[in-house]
Amino acid sequence: TKTVRLAVIPGDGIGPEVVAATVPTLRAALEADGHRLDVTELDWGGERFLREGAAMPANAADLVKHSDAVLFGAVGRPDVPEHELIWGLIIGLRQQLDLAVNIRPVRAFPGVPTKVRDTDGVDLVIVRENTEGEYVGAGGVAHAGSGHDLGIEVAVHSRRAIERAAHQAFALAGRRSGRLCLVTKSNAMRYGYPLWDRVVREIGAQYPEVELETVLVDAMAARMIQAPRSLDVLLTSNLFGDILSDLAAVLAGGMGMAPSANVPPGADVPGIYEPVHGSAPDIAGKGVANPVACLLSGALLLDDLGHTGAAGRIREAVGDALRDARNHTADLGGNATTADVSAAVLHALEGRR
Ligand code: NAD
Ligand code: MN
Repeated sequence: TKTVRLAVIPGDGIGPEVVAATVPTLRAALEADGHRLDVTELDWGGERFLREGAAMPANAADLVKHSDAVLFGAVGRPDVPEHELIWGLIIGLRQQLDLAVNIRPVRAFPGVPTKVRDTDGVDLVIVRENTEGEYVGAGGVAHAGSGHDLGIEVAVHSRRAIERAAHQAFALAGRRSGRLCLVTKSNAMRYGYPLWDRVVREIGAQYPEVELETVLVDAMAARMIQAPRSLDVLLTSNLFGDILSDLAAVLAGGMGMAPSANVPPGADVPGIYEPVHGSAPDIAGKGVANPVACLLSGALLLDDLGHTGAAGRIREAVGDALRDARNHTADLGGNATTADVSAAVLHALEGRR
């Protein structure tokens, strides 16, 4: 018997709703293998910001360091400045824990309707560098209010960060199809993306079993819609990964279907597992959010902790539930509630013991 020590940050909006639909499933999947789940819930997020002036405590990383993993819902509320929650919580915590690589799988489940045609069998993974590029916060504003205002945003790409993401991506591609696609924009950009091309090719020499292809991001956007089955593992920068993963999610039914893992650099640090979507204030409090993105994030979490059997059964149970349109939430064109989906997945999991 092993005990998984899980720190849970439900956050704001639909965050707590999808997390509540996920934790019992994680527990059931672990208990079926004779293990235990020990949950520590943390009340970080918008409400805490309004109450205490900060979305999380200053020593947040220390508080989760002794957990095996962190399950995060979402943050964001209309009455709190965005950066207080995005930088003040989720990006801040990723940085404190040095979680530089974000893994975003996209898989089309049979029976789930999509806005894009012919997505059967789509099964790809985006490996996104998670700390640098256009998101470093370097730059400033010049000549403010002069009528000639300049907003300057400096993108920074380091060899170290590219190498870390590349190793994750090559290793993952080696376990999957043996094909890796690097997505850059090195025809128009002169310093950052050419460095990506160079470093990734170098790292590739250590993975002779993986075939490397390089595609420009604009061409990739078109290919993702026109030939999504030609894709397996994609490696890309922070900005392109952000954009392409929302696009890819559409191939699986939308934001409600997209999980992610912020993978830890070593076993002594917990990873953060979270749906790609935000707090969805437009549907929060109604009990209709799709919990699948969060459930699949839980499966990624169990995979990384070595509970691959339990993780696989959660994915199969999600697939079982989604084959029945009565378990589709409104984003998938159905009228199931979050609790309906959660119950259907738990039920399917029971059947797979
Ligand atoms: P969003 O992902 O919250 O919502 C976009 C659209 O998708 C909305 O129409 C929403 O209803 C729908 N949607 C999202 N998740 C869904 C689900 N599980 N089931 C059904 N429908 C779902 O993005 P947004 O509207 O741009 O942002 C809302 C807030 O969330 C903002 O404050 C933003 O900063 C924040 N945000 C947080 C994170 C995060 O916590 N990691 C990520 C993205 C956005
Ligand atoms: Mn995004």
